[in-house]
Amino acid sequence: MNSELRSINILVVDDEASIRDIVSQVLEDDGHKLMSAASAEAGIRILEKAPIHLVITDIRMDGMDGIELLEKIKAANPEIEVVIMTSHASLETSVKSLRAGAFDYLMKPFDDLDSISTMVNRVIEKIQQGQQSQKMVESLKDENKELNHLAQRDGLTQLYNHRYFKERFAEEVSRANRYNRELSLIFLDVDYFKIFNDRNGHPMGDALLKQLASMLQLRARKIDIVARYGGEEFVIVLPETDKKGALSLANSIRKQIAEHPFKGRENQPGNIVSVSIGIATYPNDGMSAEALIKHSDDALYLAKRNGRNRVCSMGVCLTNEDKPLPSKMTTQ
Ligand code: GH3
Ligand code: MG
Ligand code: MG
Repeated sequence: MNSELRSINILVVDDEASIRDIVSQVLEDDGHKLMSAASAEAGIRILEKAPIHLVITDIRMDGMDGIELLEKIKAANPEIEVVIMTSHASLETSVKSLRAGAFDYLMKPFDDLDSISTMVNRVIEKIQQGQQSQKMVESLKDENKELNHLAQRDGLTQLYNHRYFKERFAEEVSRANRYNRELSLIFLDVDYFKIFNDRNGHPMGDALLKQLASMLQLRARKIDIVARYGGEEFVIVLPETDKKGALSLANSIRKQIAEHPFKGRENQPGNIVSVSIGIATYPNDGMSAEALIKHSDDALYLAKRNGRNRVCSMGVCLTNEDKPLPSKMTTQ
């Protein structure tokens, strides 16, 4: 038996004072905390206030009897164990009480007081087993959460990964369809990232991706889904967002990134770290998840062709007040 639980709180209910005294005496000597009541009604009043683990009750009492008390306790809190005390004459009722959820029954008069202690030890074992399996359930739940997190997240940026994005995006598109709502997809790719890696080193490239990821996450609303699509490509799913809203958010993200003093940006074309963005909106630009991904990807490549550091959608690009990047760049 583990050391956490050697003594429990026990309530003895019997209309005979001598029985209450014997049982209490034996169990107090074993180190338990005892309370007693002369009727089921008085017992219930104690149960309402005190954290009792075990109730040992007489079966035959004036007013509410032991079986009814047992049923009431089990209905209110099935974790409280109940032991019924009965006389030889009423074996049938003791069987009935076991069926009603009693842990055990004790025969009166007690010819062996040790049997009371033994019975209580078995109750303690049962409580401990329950606690252990509860702990196992809790730790399995924690492990499950951890596994889910790992399965959904990208290891470098901690954003949602490609697979999770695909699943959730499909769900969001069907939700938009069902409720007749708009939904936009932002597809974002870092400009000249190969050059960034070549000139600053891969670890700094990783650090830039992490920084970009947290900037995107900070700009997103709670209902948006920000994910790493792969490499230096990110997506943001914007539920309940029309084309105008998506363009405005995308352009503001684009500007924020272009203006941010990232370490290593001095080695980039135009001396800035920038991104190109493509947008597609449900339902106007496509009715399925696949069509929306394709259209936003096409728009992204249009943004690349049109000078990078810009936002495009369905063949049209926003005009940048800031200078587009040189169109052909090579690593020196
Ligand atoms: P563009 O403006 O046309 O998008 O040019 P780019 O150089 O960004 O595009 P390209 O596809 O040629 O290069 C992408 C680079 O991203 C190549 C690859 O090594 C790098 N990359 C992909 N994943 C990671 C990563 O996890 N960490 C780092 N540091 N680099 C990565
Ligand atoms: Mg790129
Ligand atoms: Mg790319």
